[in-house]
Amino acid sequence: MLDIDTIRNDFPILREKVYGKPLVYLDNAATTHKPQSVLDRVINHYSRQNSNCHRGAHFLSEQASAAYESARESVRSFINAQSPAEIIFTRGTTESINLVAESFGRKFVRADDEIIITQMEHHSNIVPWQRLCESRGARLKVLPMNKKGMLKLDRLSKLITENTKLLCVSYVSNTLGIVNPIREIIDLAHRYDVAVLVDAAQAVQHIPLDVQEMDCDFLAFSGHKMYAETGIGVLYGKQRWLEAMPPYQSGGGMIGNVGLRESTYAELPLKFEAGTANAAGAISLQAAIDYLQEIGLDAIVNYENELINRAVESIASLEGVIVYGDFPQRCGVVSFNLENAHPYDVGMILDKLAIAVRSGNHCAQPLMEHLGISGTVRISLALYNTPQEIDKLIAGVEKCRDMIGSRYVTTK
Ligand code: PMP
Repeated sequence: MLDIDTIRNDFPILREKVYGKPLVYLDNAATTHKPQSVLDRVINHYSRQNSNCHRGAHFLSEQASAAYESARESVRSFINAQSPAEIIFTRGTTESINLVAESFGRKFVRADDEIIITQMEHHSNIVPWQRLCESRGARLKVLPMNKKGMLKLDRLSKLITENTKLLCVSYVSNTLGIVNPIREIIDLAHRYDVAVLVDAAQAVQHIPLDVQEMDCDFLAFSGHKMYAETGIGVLYGKQRWLEAMPPYQSGGGMIGNVGLRESTYAELPLKFEAGTANAAGAISLQAAIDYLQEIGLDAIVNYENELINRAVESIASLEGVIVYGDFPQRCGVVSFNLENAHPYDVGMILDKLAIAVRSGNHCAQPLMEHLGISGTVRISLALYNTPQEIDKLIAGVEKCRDMIGSRYVTTK
């Protein structure tokens, strides 16, 4: 059992009022709030040990470097990577995926090779692959979804050819909340010698991850969606891939020796971390991991599962509401529309009730096209949300329906 009152108390922003009302924050897939312990660790870093990592031999620089590397070790242990060399700090999921597209792409993707993505990806896991394919003369293939919002996995083995180099797939869809059967997908791709990149941006805060057990080749996530600061993220990569891949960006910190005509590069993981490190971000990520582990990941998973099931059942039971996706395992997210009401109108009315949701295409336009709509209202949960907040949402959606949708409602 989680002590939700204590947990809510850990997040200062949850004490803020919006339009004079208590905030109901249901936009956690966009970004989560930060507990006091994360904020304190960042302030402590800047107040007591701020210095440039891996640059100086003086006391503070060594302290900052040690703290940064200790954060890397926390991430390694959190996702059970084999070695800290496999943990690259980036700005977030987007940069992690761009790093692979640029570096893996330069080394391993040639004309007529193929990259497979899926129809449900976030734009961050689509556009870098389009650009790579364009620059290499490679082909982008798409694993489609069915009407229920599930990937058509029976098509995957037919899509793969001997030219397929990489499959890029999200663990959890940011729009539908479907949990893809990631082990099954990775096993299948590996049977054909295809490497797999997992976009775990919407999984890492809800599902315990074990990259060795998953056997993924790459995995990307963002700190800000798991209670840490913005501007910090992670790329996990199997060491043998990262060793073989060329640097992504170049400059200070990623070098061995620099001559005027040529240079050598640092060992992993620094080879992929050009420029001054975001030490405060990495430390905030370590603090967020500590926070989650102190509460207990199993307890969080159980609580969030109950909450999301309650949310989806209550929303689906409302007349005149369409819930998108019909699948066995859902995590964190519910997308819906009020019949004949624009999602932005629903979002605006909910906002006036101090309920923060997201309205729009959720950076997943191809998925919207598949659903035949331009957008949805999306709620996304975090460990500090409560059943009472779901009740407020339901009352809010009913109010929206009375204001803008009632004329059109068809009884289920
Ligand atoms: N992939 C998924 C599934 C996401 O939900 C997001 C964030 N909405 C991203 C990638 C991009 O994350 P970021 O903006 O933190 O780089």
